[in-house]
Amino acid sequence: MPVNLRTGVEGVLEGETSRIGITFRKNPRARRYILRINATGMPTVTIPRGGSLPEAGKFAQRHVAWLEARLKKFKERTATQVDEQKVLFKGEPVALITVSDTRVAFGAHTISVAPGRTDLRAQLKEKLWRLAKMELPPRVAELAAEHGLSVNRVSVRDQRSRWGSCSVRKQISLNWRLIQVPDLVRDYIIVHELMHLREMNHSSRFWKWVHEAFPRTPEAERWLKVNALVLRQL
Ligand SMILES: [Zn+2]
Repeated sequence: MPVNLRTGVEGVLEGETSRIGITFRKNPRARRYILRINATGMPTVTIPRGGSLPEAGKFAQRHVAWLEARLKKFKERTATQVDEQKVLFKGEPVALITVSDTRVAFGAHTISVAPGRTDLRAQLKEKLWRLAKMELPPRVAELAAEHGLSVNRVSVRDQRSRWGSCSVRKQISLNWRLIQVPDLVRDYIIVHELMHLREMNHSSRFWKWVHEAFPRTPEAERWLKVNALVLRQL
């Protein structure tokens, strides 16, 4: 079997307790067979000039016990790095917990991750955005009904600089990060945008509507001020 320099050839080793996926790569500059584990936890054998795939396979198999021990350590280290992280969810820092090589949980939710990956921001963002899309529009409908208002459309978007907006076409857009803030703050932002259906500005008349509809406005505004960095975290 020819070994492609760029992509390599994948194989499987029989370990003491598991089967181990491995990649073989040719490197004409290498002087000997080299076995290592890359950043994603994939074992790789480098085949030197004049080396062969069968020889590389035998070489890897000879070191399979060493490899298994190293992989076990790699997984433990990855799990530790993941389990030291937290994600802000509904106003609380929630711990990430490694469930398996490919699943990480936070609270009642889980995300899929590539083995060995410790930077989970992209996966967390995707998951939280999805949760926000499920949760925020029904909440807007509830609060709109409470205040006798109607909304044409609610979109849940990825914005770095604002929590929400409201258009003259009665379309409200909300930042998915509202899934990260306390319920009180989420409701405040929604009510704030709803009140723009009555006043499309930040005049004193507008703020009167807001304070009437949402008496805990100062508390919510304070939280947003103190936690403005939430907009930049994920
Ligand atoms: Zn406003």
